[in-house]
Amino acid sequence: MAVENRMDKIVALAKRRGFIFQSSEIYGGQNGFWDYGPLGVELKRNVRQAWWSDMIIEHDEISAPPGAPSSFDMVGVETSIIMHPQVWKVSGHFDLFCDMMVDCRECKARFRQDHVPTSQCPLKPSKAPGEHDKCQLTAPREFNLMFKTTLGALGTEEDAAFLRPETAQGMFVNFKNICDSSRVKIPFGVAQIGKSFRNEITPRNFTFRSREFEQMEMEFFCHPSQSLAWYQYWRDRRYNWYITHGISKSNLILREHAKEELAHYSVGTADLEYAFPFLEPGSYGELEGVAHRGDFDLRSHSEGKLCKKDGELVVELGADGKPRHPGSGKDLSYFDDQSRERYVPHVIEPAAGCDRATLAFLCEAYHEDQQPDEKGVMQERLVLRLHPRLAPIKVAVFPLIKKDGMPEKAMEIYGELKAAGLSVQYDQQAAIGRRYRRQDEIGTPYCLTIDGDTAKDGCVTIRDRDTLQQERIPVSKVVDEIQTRLKG
Ligand code: ATP
Repeated sequence: MAVENRMDKIVALAKRRGFIFQSSEIYGGQNGFWDYGPLGVELKRNVRQAWWSDMIIEHDEISAPPGAPSSFDMVGVETSIIMHPQVWKVSGHFDLFCDMMVDCRECKARFRQDHVPTSQCPLKPSKAPGEHDKCQLTAPREFNLMFKTTLGALGTEEDAAFLRPETAQGMFVNFKNICDSSRVKIPFGVAQIGKSFRNEITPRNFTFRSREFEQMEMEFFCHPSQSLAWYQYWRDRRYNWYITHGISKSNLILREHAKEELAHYSVGTADLEYAFPFLEPGSYGELEGVAHRGDFDLRSHSEGKLCKKDGELVVELGADGKPRHPGSGKDLSYFDDQSRERYVPHVIEPAAGCDRATLAFLCEAYHEDQQPDEKGVMQERLVLRLHPRLAPIKVAVFPLIKKDGMPEKAMEIYGELKAAGLSVQYDQQAAIGRRYRRQDEIGTPYCLTIDGDTAKDGCVTIRDRDTLQQERIPVSKVVDEIQTRLKG
């Protein structure tokens, strides 16, 4: 399937079946903003849940780096979107979170400088910006990506505040609160899922580059001497998370950043990148970054914004010789009461995008094939092979026909599945083959059909979305069977 064709089909399916809509669509849409519909909201909730479970709950039997404890504390927080403006000055976002943009004086379009070669000029025929004779591109200018707002009624420059461009700072500024209140011991991690905002110059590629999006970030605080081993650990663990949730190895790469690419404080960063269908074959888009951030963040929030001088991180000074952006002055070091050592922990940060992960799972799941209908005639089938854990609907229940007590029995089973906490759909409209196809299209892993024999043998037919195998199982075992298959 051609690159664009496949992506267009995924976007069309997402709209048609209620996964993702353009924000404010009836008013012509709002560029860079997206709404999740009834199925999308379930899919995204399952992605979040799978991440949260992996981060917070499933850490008892792990193979940690040598010398490290085999289990460790992982806790969550939910911090505010608008934080003290000093947070962004100290973190570097106020001065440095910029993209270079260029405008075209002719057609008034705006482009990110590094996207110019892959962007299209609005003039026809389609060409890259600058390639038409009429194009008049400006020199590149800096553009800060943080959304600015004002607090309170006066609206002066002193009341300026920012919507957070990342969730991570919420964990750093609460490091002391968490240590003091929850008896965590190093190494430990603090995770958060929440909205972030970036005024992207050219939002594009569906939800991939949005202006409002959700991040799933975790800050792992550890002893400096073990930080490299933990960095390896989290890189590998995050790679495996995507694989165990259905991403194929051939579509996912772990790309270690070259030295020149690293942020000035970073000892190592690796990106997890996915072969999104809107990219040319062989190209990948970032799903998640795993960064070794050293002690940069805790030191900055304590001492003031840091910069690199003669290879060392030092507090950046203004013209008056004072810190350019002063920190909180609070001691953010950690005291180990066993080794009696005091130090500033190092941080490993896996920073994922929930919307990008959701989009990757959707793209990976999208398949077209041909299957015989009830009469044995081959029919085109569109199927989302979502991992059962991520599928928005886990099971659908159908009475074969709308009489002879079948709808009543089907409703009874539907009620039992719902009571067991499963997301389930009931459908009695149209031929059974069409009902199967409706569920295949939204990724429902199992369908149950109640037929004329059910009243006699107490069994229903369970059909598997991927193998298409059909088996008879007793009505009394339906809930157990579905739960076992979902776990398997
Ligand atoms: P990019 O280079 O694509 O702009 P980034 O390196 O700036 O991304 P990070 O700051 O590392 O991204 O943010 C962590 C994660 O948040 C990214 O890996 C991505 O999944 C997600 N993310 C970042 N920007 C956006 C966006 N504009 N829309 C959707 N998700 C985003």
